[in-house]
Amino acid sequence: MKPEHLLKEVYDAEKFRILGHQLIDQLADNLQLNLSRSRDKVIDFIAPDQSYAYWEAASFSDMETFFKTVMERSIQLEHPRYMGHQVSAPAPLAALASLQGALLNSGGAVYEMSAAASTIEKLVIDRLKPFFGLDQGDGIMTSGGTIANITALLCARNVNTNDVAWTQSQGQKYAFMVSEEAHYCIERAIRMMGWGDTGIIKVPVDTQYRMQCQELPALLQKSKDENIQVLGVVGSAPTTSTGMYDDLEAIGAFCQQHHLWYHIDAAHGGPAVFSKKYKHLMSGCAYADSITVDAHKMMMTPSLTTMLFFKESRNSYRTFAQQAHYLWSDNEAEWFNYGKRTMECTKLMMSTRLYALMVAYGMEVFEVYLDQCYDITKKFAAILHADATFEVAVDPDSNILCFRVLQETEEKTNQVNVHVRKRLLEDGSFYIVQTNLHQKVFLRVTIMNPFTTIEDLKALVAKIKQVM
Ligand SMILES: *Cc1c(COP(=O)(O)O)cnc(C)c1O
Repeated sequence: MKPEHLLKEVYDAEKFRILGHQLIDQLADNLQLNLSRSRDKVIDFIAPDQSYAYWEAASFSDMETFFKTVMERSIQLEHPRYMGHQVSAPAPLAALASLQGALLNSGGAVYEMSAAASTIEKLVIDRLKPFFGLDQGDGIMTSGGTIANITALLCARNVNTNDVAWTQSQGQKYAFMVSEEAHYCIERAIRMMGWGDTGIIKVPVDTQYRMQCQELPALLQKSKDENIQVLGVVGSAPTTSTGMYDDLEAIGAFCQQHHLWYHIDAAHGGPAVFSKKYKHLMSGCAYADSITVDAHKMMMTPSLTTMLFFKESRNSYRTFAQQAHYLWSDNEAEWFNYGKRTMECTKLMMSTRLYALMVAYGMEVFEVYLDQCYDITKKFAAILHADATFEVAVDPDSNILCFRVLQETEEKTNQVNVHVRKRLLEDGSFYIVQTNLHQKVFLRVTIMNPFTTIEDLKALVAKIKQVM
């Protein structure tokens, strides 16, 4: 094809229309197949090298077949027997907003490039922040909880050192205190900031896997004695492995007393604030200086859609206290030029995904969804408690549950749980994961799909007994 014809073909509106309709039909059929459980496998596991060989050899006569093949060879998050990692089965409406965002491709750093998306971003943050008790606050949207967390810690560092850590190479040792069960990205963020081994002070957890807050004063004193400046504490809401919420009130009171930055990593469970039944889990969150919330976990949006809230609006401008003159005329606080406050320069259009759900279904949808997922996980724990084959690690706060098959010895118990998880992956009719808690292997489910039923969970129990 001649170059000018090739590019016309690439941007042909009619061809896009036809293929687009075909793709939406395919995706709608797949959704139906999954929700009706007519698809028998959640995952058709293929070893990485085998997968590579397949794709390397594959050729496609038309793009409809290409899209279908990608779909067939992917894990099915919409399937009610998907209970693995904490990623949502996106609401189709939110996915449509993603598709629109992909085509409009509004940058997001500067207002002129993203008038609708940036304004909606502010609207989403303004509507949601009161639920966290941060009425006077502000926030940004960014690409994932990992980036939101490092953004918050960078901001804490600038605020609590009066920008010394931003402008000068570091002589002083800084640290954050965080539960030993916190998400690994907190430690990674601290090491990326160059604080090294002494930068993370791990607070032990209790038998419920919650931070032992009574240890905080002694750990703070020990750091002072070692000339380490503790800048803040990170609370988990909840922790990733066990889904247990830290005592957010207790950590908040401690931070206030000692003038420490209080960050809450509520990537998974922040949306509990929308639920009358579960908002008590987030009580104390209004103490926070910053809060991370992933909408692609418990708010049904596609990945990545993350909010980072700040208690003080002006702090949200302190993270990257540097100027980019070609983008902004001065360094004034301008809510509409989000690039000043985010790690990203070019940014995904993520605000419309969340706002589309708010417009179409109202705030209630987030409550109904969270209640469904949290409620059924408690019921699953009750089923496991009643069955002597199993042990539950801890009664769940959220929709994350760790449990294991018991054997006569610890060694055998570990072996059989590794075996069960492996067999389930090979079988593919359910998808669950595993985790280690105090050197013990546990099976782990996160019930993200609002259509998972008690029957699905009983079938999982039966399947585990069959493969163990
Ligand atoms: C998922 C999660 C993260 C990481 O968020 P991403 O959006 O995957 O980058 C961080 N902290 C907690 C508690 C999480 O559950």
